Amino acid sequence: METPAPSRQFRRLGILFVVSAPSGAGKSTLLNALRQTPDFVYSVSYTTRQPRPGEVNGEDYHFVSMEEFEQRLAGDEFLEHAQVHGNYYGTLRSAVIEQLHDGVDVLIDIDVQGAQQIRSDGNPAISDAVADIFIMPPSLEELRRRLNKRGTETSEQIETRLHNAATEMEAWHAYRYTIISGSVEEDLQKFRAIMRAERYLSHRMVLTP
Ligand code: 5GP
Repeated sequence: METPAPSRQFRRLGILFVVSAPSGAGKSTLLNALRQTPDFVYSVSYTTRQPRPGEVNGEDYHFVSMEEFEQRLAGDEFLEHAQVHGNYYGTLRSAVIEQLHDGVDVLIDIDVQGAQQIRSDGNPAISDAVADIFIMPPSLEELRRRLNKRGTETSEQIETRLHNAATEMEAWHAYRYTIISGSVEEDLQKFRAIMRAERYLSHRMVLTP
């Protein structure tokens, strides 16, 4: 008689969904839609930038002074951090590591410098967990149109953002996935396809005794 296979239980490690895009690429709309779902924990970043009208402290960002940001940086609290458009932004280590270990997927919205730091993190619990996705605007002209329509930046700030966007768009090939932004529904569908595939990767499975 055949020996029955021992019963084996698998559990899955959490995935760190890293999403980057030039501003105005459609990322915020996509992320807001994803944040309504129970699929992830969203890591709220720290920033020294001033809140925009309607932004809520602790929900959109933790808005902090330069002094507080520097203190946290000196205390090695950030998993990654970067200076973007003249302000500092950072992701807290504690907001990510335990969740991944417990099998919870974490979503972070960071720029290309931060994504590079996370990909090359010395801790495999971080670098192996990464599923990095670049949201590509359909064109720079469309990006300009969207930024003008949003109306939250001065024309000088829009020019800075467009200039930075052109540079940031060059970074797409460093990401495992690229989504060319279309409608929110299309972007969501593409994101969900990536999410499903990432959840079945063998290296995310741990055999429990
Ligand atoms: P905004 O000021 O428009 O909210 O964000 C500007 C840029 O900062 C975006 O590209 C956004 O992805 C990036 N960003 C937001 N939070 C973080 C963070 O914690 N770390 C890094 N490296 N970039 C961030």
